[in-house]
Amino acid sequence: MSLTDRQFYVGKFNTNLAYEDRPLSIGFNATISAPHMHAYALENLLSPLKNAADAGRVPRVLDVGCGSGYLLGAFARCYGAHVTGLEHIKDLYDLSVRNFASDVKNSEDGESIKKRVEIHHCDGRLGWPSDSTEESYDVIHVGAAAPEIPKAFFAQLNRGGRLILPVGPKGGSQIFQQWDKDAQGELTHHNLMGVIYIPLTDAEAQLNDSD
Ligand code: SAH
Repeated sequence: MSLTDRQFYVGKFNTNLAYEDRPLSIGFNATISAPHMHAYALENLLSPLKNAADAGRVPRVLDVGCGSGYLLGAFARCYGAHVTGLEHIKDLYDLSVRNFASDVKNSEDGESIKKRVEIHHCDGRLGWPSDSTEESYDVIHVGAAAPEIPKAFFAQLNRGGRLILPVGPKGGSQIFQQWDKDAQGELTHHNLMGVIYIPLTDAEAQLNDSD
């Protein structure tokens, strides 16, 4: 995280708040998560990334609901990972692309992370590629709360991989969950903590949300 300057990701109206430990609005009923939540997610996911790197592979990360794009930069700086970011609101997709480009342009390691990040405008509930049930990712991070966990996340998780995501209803009691897939393809999960995230939903519902 010390290599990924939050200044590039909070937007020009929030630059004075960039290093406050709180979520900030990025528009379109979305927020950039608080730094302690980014830290929590990154730390939790370090071991599956390291295991992939130790096995001589490029670790692969899927970040669903990449919003500001902060975690794209941060994950790309962990064990040389390849990161795929998905965002369903076009303006927020554009924001992710712009923010990440500004990180790349202004950071010493910019060129090396640039080639390892791809960002797509799509419904992230299908994962990526959207018609694939192939095991592809060592790590899946979801930045919005799913009332029910989309099957694609389990299908696209590698053996030895880890999925973390908030699960629960909009505005209700949500639990941050960790799912691990073992070498035989068996899934186990446990609850990490109670959280409040915006919903993993369809674009129209998010844009029309007046709460
Ligand atoms: N980790 C991001 C979180 C942004 S908030 C950050 O710290 O910046 C959650 C994001 O999930 C929002 O940008 C929202 O637009 C996106 N989102 C919600 N539902 C989605 C869906 N079905 N597909 C893709 N993105 C979605």
